[in-house]
This record gives sequence, structure tokens and C-alpha cells, in this order.
Amino acid sequence: MLWRTDSINQMLFTAVDEAKKQLDIDRMAIFLFDEKLRMHGTYGTDMSGATVDEHYFESAIPDHWFSSHALKGQEYIVINNNTELYHDLEPVGSGWNAYVALWDEDKAVGWIACDNLISGRPLQDYHRQLLKQFGFIVSQHLVRRQAEEKLIRLNKELEQRVTERTQALQNANQQLEQLAKCDPLTGVANRRAFDNQFKDEWRRAERHQLPLSLLIIDIDNFKSYNDQYGHAAGDQCLQVIAHALNAIERRAGALFARYGGEEFVLLLPGQNHKAAVYAAKQALHAVRRLKLKHKQPNDANHVTISIGVASMIPSLQYSTSDLFKLTDDALYKAKAVGKNGYYFHTSEK
Ligand code: GH3
Ligand code: MG
Ligand code: MG
Repeated sequence: MLWRTDSINQMLFTAVDEAKKQLDIDRMAIFLFDEKLRMHGTYGTDMSGATVDEHYFESAIPDHWFSSHALKGQEYIVINNNTELYHDLEPVGSGWNAYVALWDEDKAVGWIACDNLISGRPLQDYHRQLLKQFGFIVSQHLVRRQAEEKLIRLNKELEQRVTERTQALQNANQQLEQLAKCDPLTGVANRRAFDNQFKDEWRRAERHQLPLSLLIIDIDNFKSYNDQYGHAAGDQCLQVIAHALNAIERRAGALFARYGGEEFVLLLPGQNHKAAVYAAKQALHAVRRLKLKHKQPNDANHVTISIGVASMIPSLQYSTSDLFKLTDDALYKAKAVGKNGYYFHTSEK
């Protein structure tokens, strides 16, 4: 019966309940010790002989003579004949009682108390031997169950830790992924993110035969800006411009990125040359509105940009690098015709 129980508590209940029936004992209770030398009730017997939960009971071990006794390792069993019997620390009659110590090797881990308070049946010769064996069996079950439950607890803790670590790792990976796509100076997407998305959008546009437009945006005479105001001011200027340009295009799939140095790109999937030219005008205005002071060789007083614009419907004989080159050529033309403007190239018919 003890083997078949599926927890320590059920095992202890069965031990008390069945031992009374099988071993001709009126009342029985099992107490366990904890690491802090406290004694805890588990299951006991009320005045009518019913098995009751006594987990509420707790006291210091030295308060009980048999506990101290058992801990010192002196006795396995103590039987008192014709002695006073107690219930809830009150004397309630007389008869015999017995205390059986529970052991984990040579360490006392608790004890069993029993008596004949209800029926007054006399103590038999076999009681001493039976109770000693019973104490041994309960001890074995207790130690095995405690080890098992500890293992289950440890396993659960381990599982919990693995879950937490996995979550932390996923978060870190997400952060890393985010960082890997981000330009550290300006906080906008970087060239890596652009290269990936450019390829994806190219394939998508090719599949659906939709236009794909690209803008390359380059700050005019930025070398002279650095020379005049210093590299730190140059960095700040890049941040302000990136921020302003990042805000102009919000359509799904559109990507604004810092391509490198003082060059940015704006990818416009599904948008034709008209939409691309409109975006270029918006970008020019956005930078003009900033009115960032810059005495330029071409007599402009503020920071300006030049933009190459190109648009294509992807087809098998072309690739992303063809659209990029077309856009870069357009930028070169925009610079050549005096900067602070855009130039547009299209392969669209
Ligand atoms: P153009 O109008 O023909 O584009 O002339 P430019 O001076 O802008 O072009 P050039 O390619 O000669 O110079 C680009 C300058 O951008 C040179 C480099 O010092 C500056 N630059 C590139 N990256 C950074 C950066 O991260 N911070 C700062 N402060 N300057 C940068
Ligand atoms: Mg440049
Ligand atoms: Mg430049």
C-alpha cells in the first residue's frame, strides 16, 4: 500500500491509517524533523480513532523527550506500560504507549507515536517487533520519497532556468539582429539592411511585374563642411539630415538607409518614376527646411543634397546592381549640373 501511494503525504496518511487497522493499535501519529531541529506533525488520530491531518502541529525538538532521545541515536523504540496518555498535551487516560524512531542511515528524521487509549487492549509480545519493523519500512519509504521529490523539484527548477535562459537568449538575439540592421551614428537602417531588402523587393517586384524605384542621396560638399566646422559637427549634421529624411517616406516596404559616409538610399517598392520623383522633391525640401548653416563653394549658404533617381520594372536580364548603377549615374548627373537638385533615369517605357 505504501508503494502505491503517489506522494509523501499520501504515504504518511496510509501508514497511519492502515497500521492502526493491521497492527491492532488504537491511536498513531507520525512526526518529522526538519533541518532546523523543529518537529512537525503529519497525520495523527483523534479521540474517536479517526485519522486526521496534523500538519498544523510544530514544536522545538528539545521540548519533547523522545525527540531529543531519538536524535541522540540511543533508541529505536521505547514502550511504556501503564503510563499517562495525552491528547493535545492534555492527560486523557492511561494505558501503554510506544515511540518508534525513523532513521535515514544514522540520522533520526522523525518518529511514530502510538497507544491503546480507546480500546484499552493490552500490550502484546509481538507489538515491539512489529513496531520496529514498521518503523523501518516507513523510514525507507520516507527517505526514498524525499529523494524523489527533491529530484522532481530540481528538475522543475532546471526546466525553469532553461526556459528563462532561452527567453533571455531570444531577447539578446532579437536585440543583436536589430543592432545588426542599424547604423550606429544616425540610428537609421544601415547598408546591410538595405542590401538584404533591396534583393527581397527586387524579387517581389519581378514576380508581380511591379516598378521598383531607388533614390541615392548625397550631401553636397560635405568634405568642406567637415573642414569648416569640424568632424563632430559633421557627425551631428549627418544625424539631423538622416532624421529628417527618414521621416518623409512611410509606405509599407519603403526603406531609408545610410549607405555609407554622407550617402543615403531610399528604396521605394511598387512605386513608379512619378512617385520616386515626388519623393526626391520632398527630400530636397526636407533638407532645405532644416537651414543648416554651410558656406559652400557654389555660394549656397546652407547644407544641400543631390539626388539620383531611377526606376525599373525588374526583369530577368537585369539585377539590383543595374538599378543601383542607373541611380548612381543619375546622382553623378545631378552633381554635374550644379548640385542641390535631383536627376532622373528610367528604363520604364
Ligand atoms: P560632393 O558634393 O561631390 O558629394 O562633395 P563631398 O565633399 O560631399 O564628397 P566627398 O566624397 O569628397 O567627401 C565626402 C566627405 O564626407 C568626406 C568625409 O570626411 C565625410 N564623411 C564621410 N563619413 C563621415 C562621417 O561619418 N562623419 C563625418 N563627420 N564626415 C564624414
Ligand atoms: Mg559621397
Ligand atoms: Mg557628398
